[in-house]
Amino acid sequence: MANPVQDQFDLRAAATIKQLQSFIHAQTSNPSMESDCSFFAVPKTVKQLLDLLAEHPDARLVAGSTDLALETTQQLRNLPKLIHTAKVAELRRIEEQDDQVIIGAAVTYSEAEPILVKHFPAIQGLLHRLGSLQVRNQGTLGGNIANASPIGDMPPVLLALNARLILRSHKGVRELPIDQFFTAYRQTALNPGECIESIILPKPSVNSFLRIYKLSKRLDDDISAVCAAIHLTLKDDRVLSARLGFGGMAATPARALQAENALIGKPLTEAGIAEAQEALAQDFSPLSDVRASATYRLLSAKNLLLRAVLEYTATQSLEVMHYAHLD
Ligand SMILES: Cc1cc2nc3c(=O)[nH]c(=O)nc-3n(C[C@H](O)[C@H](O)[C@H](O)COP(=O)(O)OP(=O)(O)OC[C@H]3O[C@@H](n4cnc5c(N)ncnc54)[C@H](O)[C@@H]3O)c2cc1C
Repeated sequence: MANPVQDQFDLRAAATIKQLQSFIHAQTSNPSMESDCSFFAVPKTVKQLLDLLAEHPDARLVAGSTDLALETTQQLRNLPKLIHTAKVAELRRIEEQDDQVIIGAAVTYSEAEPILVKHFPAIQGLLHRLGSLQVRNQGTLGGNIANASPIGDMPPVLLALNARLILRSHKGVRELPIDQFFTAYRQTALNPGECIESIILPKPSVNSFLRIYKLSKRLDDDISAVCAAIHLTLKDDRVLSARLGFGGMAATPARALQAENALIGKPLTEAGIAEAQEALAQDFSPLSDVRASATYRLLSAKNLLLRAVLEYTATQSLEVMHYAHLD
């Protein structure tokens, strides 16, 4: 039988990849392997992970590598020291409690989808547009949060759902509301030697209303120009509480605090949200970039609030199912 055709990548990397794969799956007590110029560790417990981080403060954590690997492919950087989180039991947990759901930072989107969709059905539409199936099978929630991209898709949702992060280091464990995690453009509240262990999502109350909208140039496999997560609790069609998480509107994923305040106590009607729509301009001064102009972003954010109202009153989705007709 003829040999399968091998490309240059196969020829150069096949042996290394095989070696790494057997190391990842090996039942060895030593979690790391190293050569003169590289170090790779696969801890199995969070204690091992923290010990490794303390011993190798210059190492990078890697989960699914759908983001980190871009530093190599796009910026041509070397990543000589890596600690892989995908086998750390504590970072892989998915647990449902009475009032909350806990998802480990190294759980992939595909693995998290069933429990997320069970409690927050509105997440499904977003998840199916997050990257591609391959990215969702590999990428993790922890990676999406830690990379602190202003246009990551899950942070706006987690902000709207009032998620909390469990952060762990040798100094101990702390719980941080996600709205205190993003401190500046691509900066986070993580201290050196600290990792995200898990994400806690309070279950929604019976009278909560959640809508999530992702605006991007392509339907599939595209990063958001604007992502909005609108989470309200209502009584007699009036807003009791409001949390609005946005991506693409500022240097970090952020809540629209003034718009939230303007919504509280108002009826969820077109007239009732007018003040909140105006307040979005005080909350955000978005940038113009390759994905969208500042004007488009602000106008879209206002219109997404309106879309939520229309979906609430019409009790039907206004989703555009077909982007283009090729008749
Ligand atoms: C083709 C493609 C399409 C994409 N589409 C989208 C999209 O539509 N929407 C979107 O939001 N993103 C998208 N992404 C970006 C990426 O897939 C996500 O951000 C993903 O969630 C990253 O997770 P990961 O496990 O791959 O992270 P990694 O690449 O492994 O890590 C990312 C960063 O997080 C750090 N990190 C990882 N785990 C932890 C931890 N437990 N504690 C502390 N730090 C940690 C790493 O050190 C690194 O700095 C896309 C990427 C690609 C390649």
